[in-house]
Amino acid sequence: MAPHAGSATRTRRPRGEGQWALGYREPLNANEQSKKDDPPLNVRERIENVYAHRGFDSIDPGDLRGRFRWYGLYTQRRPGIDGGRTATLEPEELEDRYFMLRVRIDGGALTTDQLALIGELAQTYARDTADITDRQNVQYHWVRIEDVPAIWAKLESVGLSTTEACGDSPRVILGSPVAGIAAGEVLDATPAIDEIRRRYIGAPEFANLPRKFKTAVSGLPDVAHEIHDVAFVGVDHPDHGPGFDLWVGGGLSTNPMLGVRLGAWVSLEEVPDVWAGVVGVFRDYGYRRLRSRARLKFLVKDWGAEKFREVLEREYLGRPLPDGPAPEVPAHPVDHVGVHRQKDGLYYVGAAPVAGRASGSMLIAAAKAAERAGSTRVRLTPQQKLIVLDVPASEVDGLRTALAEAGLDTDPSPWRRGVMACTGIEFCKLAIVETKARAQRLVTELEQRLADVQSGVEHPVSVHLNGCPNSCARIQVADIGLKGQIVTDAEGRQVEGFQVHLGGGLGLDAGFGRKLRRHKVTAAELTDYVERVVRNYLAQREDGERFAQ
Ligand code: SF4
Repeated sequence: MAPHAGSATRTRRPRGEGQWALGYREPLNANEQSKKDDPPLNVRERIENVYAHRGFDSIDPGDLRGRFRWYGLYTQRRPGIDGGRTATLEPEELEDRYFMLRVRIDGGALTTDQLALIGELAQTYARDTADITDRQNVQYHWVRIEDVPAIWAKLESVGLSTTEACGDSPRVILGSPVAGIAAGEVLDATPAIDEIRRRYIGAPEFANLPRKFKTAVSGLPDVAHEIHDVAFVGVDHPDHGPGFDLWVGGGLSTNPMLGVRLGAWVSLEEVPDVWAGVVGVFRDYGYRRLRSRARLKFLVKDWGAEKFREVLEREYLGRPLPDGPAPEVPAHPVDHVGVHRQKDGLYYVGAAPVAGRASGSMLIAAAKAAERAGSTRVRLTPQQKLIVLDVPASEVDGLRTALAEAGLDTDPSPWRRGVMACTGIEFCKLAIVETKARAQRLVTELEQRLADVQSGVEHPVSVHLNGCPNSCARIQVADIGLKGQIVTDAEGRQVEGFQVHLGGGLGLDAGFGRKLRRHKVTAAELTDYVERVVRNYLAQREDGERFAQ
């Protein structure tokens, strides 16, 4: 019944979502308050001049658990705390006095000098840890605050940085690991990535976003463009030629959404401006009241592609963008592992560590092997792999042997190729279960148990392991996605295990895996389970049928 005049019932005004553009400038939660109190990029000066000299105990909690992220720093998990206690402990009980430090590597592109330096820093300051992430970064662990300025100085001496590697800011920009050399690419996106980084990374205008902001710019559909806040994907326009198709609003985590096409074509030169426009929309109209709704995907869902494009063009670009075609996507994900011919006649060689687990020693060995083979360029991939570029045909075999000796297999089993894992309980404070070592065991066991069917697996079955409901390892878009949680085993005990998501994927038929509520597996049963699923798939598939079908 509608309330009549004079009724005590009041029509409730819709609550704002904390959008700056609608006048909500007052901070609405602790994170927003912290960013307003002191712009996070200011923390660098305190790290260099105060904390690195006075040590861990001198660090202000607001910096330690907030602003440090803008420079790629998180405290790591204290060893020995089981996943059942993750949600019940206070931050200071969970955290160790050491840091994870993330090095941003835009486009995954490194020279061999840079790769070797990353490895040397790992050996000197990070107990030789140097994992390759699925966002083309390298992550150190065991870093002391006292050593951070020295690490920065050395990274910056070779053009690398940790600025905005984490935090409510524009994170590392994903790019095709074979940009500029792949025979099939529409165009080389590297100049656009470089220009965005030069103009906007570390710039105050985009250093206080509602939450993290993920970008991909690629001439090939090999960077998981569907799950980025903004993505530019190479397309050939019938009138304008090579350029990019613009996508917005993708993201995984606990509320996964695929990005949507705006139907707009963007030239290589315009990418930085359009990128800044999209980030501007997010900064000004993004939801800041609740952290759980502060990603761009929620705004895009509410507005729809048409309104988003209209606001972008009218308020941020001041001009319409031409309509454009959709990109062609491959039937199977491309990981660039193995030996491939470049368009200039040289070769690139893609190698797989297991689930991104690398070390400083491994990276130094890879850099040396690449140089001995005549190369000065390497790339990290969104599948936690490493590629050496520009290898003459005569050097390929020698390089492959040297990489294999370093633990980097260039002809890996489909299981080694298809398994990815996030950081997990070894270092991550949010984790509920262990992932990296488990992924390594899983690969070894699958290689033994599935040796009889291996030759029949033309495309790796992707198996992604997450340590918690966040989706750092992209579980919803894996053939077999495994979300870490505590489960009940056959004897009624609470043990580490996984919620299973089956049949997700990107590219053709992009979609999220099916999550059946009762579909859970204990960690102890994991290999049995994956083996069973893979054997069933291989036995029942029709000709050419993909796992997700
Ligand atoms: Fe940590 Fe969870 Fe991300 Fe894994 S998925 S790295 S456990 S936050």
